[in-house]
Order: sequence, then C-alpha cells, then structure tokens
Amino acid sequence: MNFVSTRGRAPSVTAAEALVSGLAPDGGLYVPEYLPAPREDWETTAGLTYAELAAEVLALFFTDWEKEELLTLCRKAYNGTFNMPGIIRVRKVGEKRYFTELFHGRTLAFKDMALSLFPHLLQAAKKKLGRTETTLILTATSGDTGKAALAGFQDVPGTEIIVFYPEHGVSPVQKWQMQTQAGENVHVYGVEGNFDDAQTFVKAAFEDPDLRAYAKDHGVAFSSANSINIGRLLPQIVYYIRTYAELVKAGEIKKGEAFDVCVPTGNFGNILAGYLAKQLGVPIAKLICASNENHVLTDFFRTGTYDRRREFHATHSPSMDILISSNLERFIYYLLDGDAQATANYLEELRVNGRFTLPESAMARADDFLCGWVDDEETVRLMGRMHKEHGYVMDPHTAVAVGVSDQLQEERDGRLLVIISTANPYKFPDTVAQALKLDTQDATDDFDRMWQIANISSLPLPIQFFHLREKQPRFHESVEKEDLQDVVRKTIAAMTEHNEN
Ligand SMILES: *Cc1c(COP(=O)(O)O)cnc(C)c1O
Repeated sequence: MNFVSTRGRAPSVTAAEALVSGLAPDGGLYVPEYLPAPREDWETTAGLTYAELAAEVLALFFTDWEKEELLTLCRKAYNGTFNMPGIIRVRKVGEKRYFTELFHGRTLAFKDMALSLFPHLLQAAKKKLGRTETTLILTATSGDTGKAALAGFQDVPGTEIIVFYPEHGVSPVQKWQMQTQAGENVHVYGVEGNFDDAQTFVKAAFEDPDLRAYAKDHGVAFSSANSINIGRLLPQIVYYIRTYAELVKAGEIKKGEAFDVCVPTGNFGNILAGYLAKQLGVPIAKLICASNENHVLTDFFRTGTYDRRREFHATHSPSMDILISSNLERFIYYLLDGDAQATANYLEELRVNGRFTLPESAMARADDFLCGWVDDEETVRLMGRMHKEHGYVMDPHTAVAVGVSDQLQEERDGRLLVIISTANPYKFPDTVAQALKLDTQDATDDFDRMWQIANISSLPLPIQFFHLREKQPRFHESVEKEDLQDVVRKTIAAMTEHNEN
C-alpha cells in the first residue's frame, strides 16, 4: 500500500517514505491510498499481547513490510516500557461507562501509545530506504507530545530532536518533565506564543526551501513526531480495537454490539484513529469529539464552518488548547470523499481567510460524530464529583470528555460508553488538588501536592514522579516565535560540528 497526500499535488510514496518525511512536499498530510477491508472478528484478538495486536493492525497498512519485522518493532516498543502489563487498562466506573486509560507509558500521557513505537518505525524506514543522513525531528507540543517524543528519541542513533512548547501554556509538571530530559541529541525550547504558533512554524519549516537546503548541506533532513506523521496516527488505531475486544471478553457487550467513544480532542489525531478503527470494523456507533473552551471543532461539527479567528483560551486542559487542528485535514479529505483538489482549496482558504465552510453533502458524512464542550469550572467540578461518587481520580482532559458525554445522553440511546482517558492526573496536581478540595496551604509546589493527592486517593503516584523533583532542569531557554528558524539553524550547525569532532 502506498500513501497519498491529502492535497494531491505530490506523488504517492511508500510507508517508509511517508514515515521519514512526515509531511508531504505539497504541504498535505499522508493518508493510506485505500482503507483495508473491515474485519468482523476483532474480538478474537483479545488473547494476543498488545504488541502482537499492534503488529497485526500495522500490517494492514505497511503491506510491504514483513510481519515478523513489525512484530519485533512492536515488542521493542511495548515490552517493558509501560507501568501496566496490558499496556492499556479498560476500567469500569459507574453504569455502562468505561475508561480506556492510555496513560501508563513512560511519560504518563496517551502520546506514549504511538511515540514508544515511532522511533523504531522511523529507524527501520530509514534502513529500508538506505538513508544515512541525520534525521532532525521538529516537534511542536501542547504539553504531552514533547516529553513522549523526547523519551522516545533520547540517544537514538542518527536522530536529533528539537521540541518547542508554549512557554506559558503547559502545566508546571509537563514543563519540568521536558526540561529535565536526558540525552545527547535532545533540545527543548519554550516559545513566547501558543501551540498553534509552534505548530505553524514547524509545518512552515518543512516547506521552507532555504531552510531545507541549509539542512541538506549539513547532512540533515527534517521529520516530525507530531500527529501529522502516519507513524503517530496508525498505532493509535490499536487501542480502540483492544478496547472492543476487552469489552466483549468481559461480557459487557456482545460480539458486534455497538458502543460509543468520547475523546478529549485537540489536534484531532486521537479521535481520527478512532474513526479509522470504525472503518476497520470496530462497532463504534458514535464518535464524540469533546473540546474545552477552545471549541473550534464543536462549532465545526455543528455548523460546517471551521473558523479559527477567535480568542485563544489557556485552560486547565492545556493539551487541548488548539485552534488549528492539523489532523482535521485528513478528516476533511474523507468527508470530501477523497477529493484532494477540494481539500487543498479549503485548507488554502483557512490559511488566507482563517475560515472555510464545507458543503452540506460533506458534513452529512460526519453523521456518526457528536460533539460538545465544557469550561474550566465545570471540568473541576466533574473531577471532584467523580472522585466523590466513584473514588476515581481523572485528569482535566478526561474530565472534559466526561462532561461532554453527560450532555449527550439523549442522543446516545443508552449504548455503552467508553471515555478515552488521556493523561495521568498527577501531571496536573494543581487542578486535581483544587477539584478534590485539598488544603494546599502548606504545599510549596506541585510535588507536595502530588503527595497530598497520593495520601488521600487510591491513585498510586507513578514511579516516574518519585524522583522528578531532584532532577536538575537542563533547558531554560525561551525564544520569540520569530526566532524559531534561527534556533533550528543554530542547532543544525552545532550538531554537525559535534558529529565531526
Ligand atoms: C494530546 C492530548 C489530547 C488531544 O489529543 P489530539 O490527538 O491532539 O486530539 C488530549 N488530552 C491529552 C492529555 C493530550 O496529551
């Protein structure tokens, strides 16, 4: 199977090439040129290990890779890197409601699901293509991708990674996690701007001929660890299939019985993987797109108009503080029935005018989506209520999903609900402490608050945070968004010097 650009002005490429390049040269995103035939017996995969299932799913798309090779890569990714033997946990809380916890990986956010595997895929792809240049991974993060990518690429030969995070837009723990990252090949910068600024810069860097030429002269090529890379998107399909198989195994639903999933959404990568899982035969009825106060996606689903010209809100769920959802481009392509020309036109309209409107015929294809949003106050209230009623601590992003699914009871016809739980609550101790009404007067910082939460709840403090406080931050620099290009050039110059010595 090859991969084609959503904008149709670039040749189709192999999976290996799509992985290595990240973004298509026409500025589009790669999508598989066809979707594999749906399968009706996914519940039979319940007995496989997570790595085995991941290899099976990837083999549907990476048709020119040996199944054995994929299995080896998946085992490297998932064996021994998660705090949970099953990799994910599907957990019942309340009636007909499950949480699929995706935060038991190295960096405690759902980004680990794909970023534990992605560096292995990338290395294998480079080998297949005989590529010997250094790959420079340019990463914009709204908080969690950065750390997961840094952990994944730490000291991986032939790679360097730069992460840009919004200086004032991530939680203190998220920042601390990134600033203390070890590794000779990692670079971390705060950006005086928001996530959209960082992501826009990264996408522009890919298309900038001068910057690319400069990199090439130094034996460097760019790639991306953001969800624009198929190496992020495809591994995320796996946990939707796993969730279904586990629900059938537990006797909660029958084979083929439909259920709904609700996904806290920012860049539209996670929920798009759910959409693809549905195309592959997982009996998902409704995909619920949950937003915070930056509800550009809710408005899009309700009106067919995507309009990013609006105020940006810094919320308690910072990883969803996004107004330009990059994976939506892939979804638009599907809604337009694969019309790349039309997709390119709408994206150009977005770039120039900040908005576009899809025709009704296209929006009609989104009728299996529901949507909604909740504000910060409600998010905190829901976190407190969930703990009080069920003894279950959830992070603010997951709480947004709970709030939105609560609003949609009537549209849901009593189906079983799966909430996709995206981060370990300990990444947001301040908000959790507030929600649980802890007396934090004596707490001097987030690490104190973590122990307070650990003392009164049944949520174990993850081992990753035991010693985080003692680690010394290595990266302190914050840069203006105009200077990002200079940062990239300097990094390239420094790393080639370093490699020559
Ligand atoms: C990245 C992230 C999201 C949003 O996921 P998208 O794939 O960007 O929609 C939600 N919650 C958390 C905790 C995240 O890290």
